[in-house]
This record gives sequence, structure tokens and C-alpha cells, in this order.
Amino acid sequence: MGSEPKLSVLFTRDEIEATVNRLAAEIRRDYLTKHPILIAVLKGSFMFLADLIRRLDFPLEVEFVRLSSYGRGKESSGKIKLAQRPQAKVKGRHVLVIEDIIDTGLTAGFLLDYLGKKKPASLKLCVLTDKPARRQTPVNIDYRGLTVPDKFIVGYGLDWDERFRHLPDIYVMENEG
Ligand code: 5GP
Repeated sequence: MGSEPKLSVLFTRDEIEATVNRLAAEIRRDYLTKHPILIAVLKGSFMFLADLIRRLDFPLEVEFVRLSSYGRGKESSGKIKLAQRPQAKVKGRHVLVIEDIIDTGLTAGFLLDYLGKKKPASLKLCVLTDKPARRQTPVNIDYRGLTVPDKFIVGYGLDWDERFRHLPDIYVMENEG
């Protein structure tokens, strides 16, 4: 590996906060009396989930799933596996999937398909960032945060090879180091 990757700010923590506030208001409006299960996709969505649910003042449950699709580096392998399943029963429940980013759409497509087969009462998708330029399969996003250009982003939970997750802002990675 050569020099350090160069990062430039794409969304500041204030812009992210305003976006999370907006999404929380939309979700509150729709789920206030539904006691939903929020299923967050590890690892990238942990920070978004933590900020989001602190703004939701009604009964809900949290589950985590882990999917393996990305190895080291930046390109999806295209093969997706469920490495950690949700613990709670999904059947008959209102399920809201929480994702950090939709890129090709393959991961979200796989997860929604898997959860849909378990017969939830409803199944929706909330994403913090959407990178529509690289979509390979259509994904219906019910709650969309920020649209990002066709660049690799890091920070606010999103990593590059496990680095940069802790950064409070979202950056474009200009080079690979
Ligand atoms: P998809 O299946 O939609 O192509 O990819 C979804 C996953 O790819 C995300 O959950 C994330 O782990 C990874 N990913 C896609 N684009 C980016 C990006 O710009 N930055 C980072 N850090 N991860 C990304």
C-alpha cells in the first residue's frame, strides 16, 4: 500500500443530523402504533441506527443481520450470504430494514427477498445514503436520506477495509492510498 487515502468532506455532521431528524419524523409518522422491528445491517449502519432510534419515542425492537458481500477493497464480490440472521420472529411483524448505503442494490435485494419469505405484516427499507448510479437491480427505497455521487464514501459507520468508521462526517475517498 502506498500513501494515505485522501478524504474530502461530502456531508458534514450537521447535514447528517438534519437528514436523520427528517427520516425519524417520517418513520415516527408511519410506525407510531405498530411496534416495529428495525433490522439493521452490520456493520455499516450501526451509527445511523443509534442516532435514528434515539429520536423515535415509541415502542420498537432492534435486530441485527450481517451479510457478507464485500471483501477487502471496494468492489462487491456479487455473492451474498447471510452471516447472521435476525433472532426475533419476523412473521406478522412490521419490519423496517435499516441500511447505510444502497450501491448495486444486490445486498438489499437479497435481504428483502429473504425477509419477505418470512411473511412480515409489512416490509420497508430506510437508507441513509443512496448511490443510484451503480444500481444493478431495482430497489424500492421507502425512506431515503442522502443521494451520493458515484464515488466511494467513508465515515459515519462506513469503512474502507475497517478504517474510517468512527468519523462523524461522511467523506469521499479520493484515492486508494
Ligand atoms: P450493494 O449490494 O448495494 O452493492 O452494496 C451494499 C454494501 O456495499 C453496503 O452495505 C456497503 O457495505 C458497501 N458499499 C457500497 N458502496 C460503498 C461506499 O461508497 N462506501 C463504503 N464504505 N461501502 C460501500
